[in-house]
Amino acid sequence: MFWDKRFETMDRQELRRHQLEHLNITLKEAAKSPRYGQLLKERGVSELKSLDEIQRLPFTGKQDLRDHFPYGFLSVPLDKVVRMHSSSGTTGNPTVVFHTKGDLDNWAGLVARNMYMSGLRPGDVFQNIMGYGLFTGGLGFHYGSEKLGAMTIPAGAGNSKRQLWFMRQFKTTAAHILPSYALKLSTYLAEEGLDPRKDLHLKYFYIGAEPHTEAMRQEIERIYGVKAFNSYGLSEMCGPGVAFECLEQNGMHLWEDHYLMEIIDPKTGELLPDGQEGELVLTSLRREAMPLLRYRTRDLTSILAGDCPCGRTHRRIARFKGRSDDMLIINGVNIFPMQIEATILAMPEVGNHYVIEVLKENFLDRIHLKIEVREAAFSGTLPALESLKERIAAALNTELGVHVKVHLVEPGTLPTAEGKAVRVFDKRNQQ
Ligand code: AMP
Ligand code: ZN
Repeated sequence: MFWDKRFETMDRQELRRHQLEHLNITLKEAAKSPRYGQLLKERGVSELKSLDEIQRLPFTGKQDLRDHFPYGFLSVPLDKVVRMHSSSGTTGNPTVVFHTKGDLDNWAGLVARNMYMSGLRPGDVFQNIMGYGLFTGGLGFHYGSEKLGAMTIPAGAGNSKRQLWFMRQFKTTAAHILPSYALKLSTYLAEEGLDPRKDLHLKYFYIGAEPHTEAMRQEIERIYGVKAFNSYGLSEMCGPGVAFECLEQNGMHLWEDHYLMEIIDPKTGELLPDGQEGELVLTSLRREAMPLLRYRTRDLTSILAGDCPCGRTHRRIARFKGRSDDMLIINGVNIFPMQIEATILAMPEVGNHYVIEVLKENFLDRIHLKIEVREAAFSGTLPALESLKERIAAALNTELGVHVKVHLVEPGTLPTAEGKAVRVFDKRNQQ
């Protein structure tokens, strides 16, 4: 049941002792990088007596990594570095992260821990439907599943025909897949006249790398007949493996033996009590090449209360609501794209793809929402769906408190990305 029982079920007090010990090791190592060397010297911090003193350390942001590109945060000589990765540039330019052999081994161990937790075992066939290369989602899971001992198919992203061929030939039982791509692939399977529940052998999906709602997860589980586990990570903290759902599928265990978490108010930077929603801030505890202190992820979540029945002692975080920089301010009202997704996916006639466009009209902000309608609901003439349009607009008005202009389009007509889904187009500054 456990990959790494000692660590996964470590007593909380012992876990905190482990964290403090590794925080101090990390501080010493981080001080060897040009940037932290300078910052820690300025603050006069070389050792912390307790975890509560973490606030003596500076925050690190994406901009800091860019300002000190490429080697400003590197803590080891280059002859210890064996790999680099970069963020997918969800917002702005990519940032680079370096790894020693030890980092890669720890990272693979963490991903293996997650996959094992879901039920994956040697003998399973794991298809990695993620981009290989600088993006960490591909190689991160690849080395994790090999470490676990599952046969690994490095399928890479896209090309639905080839993905299906692999799944059928090798009887794939598990896949790592973007939630948006899982839905796209299901359209292709339907076109091929296949029912993934009957015609394939899938048991586990690892979905993540982009925000998605519980409704989206359930839809994926329904279509494929799998258990779909939410998987969270970011390049700056190695990549996938940082937090993952157990069989309870009720929040993600954030691996506190590797990462120290804080939830802060994104505006004031102040620490928030457990349970309150805020920005996740992470300090790496085991990284060698490029340890990061109090890294501001911009990802919004909260810590869930109570112990998990699975027996793991690491605290769980809630499904991500999005990134603080995803938030749209519409005529003064704060809106997250995930609120829109949750509302529309609850309607059976609505398909799986949508695009949010924000425009200025008569000096006011206006959301235009284009939604694909399900094949079954699509009777051939769009005007027949007028009442559906009104129902969607009314539901969104109740949920968001703003009026949304809804446009229904035919299935398969909205553009889809090969990598992480891009669904929001804020054109207000271009007008
Ligand atoms: P990257 O470093 O380019 O791989 O991007 C990492 C970012 O992807 C994170 O900071 C999140 O914003 C997003 N992300 C990754 N996994 C998830 C997930 N399970 N749910 C929501 N967002 C995610
Ligand atoms: Zn659990």
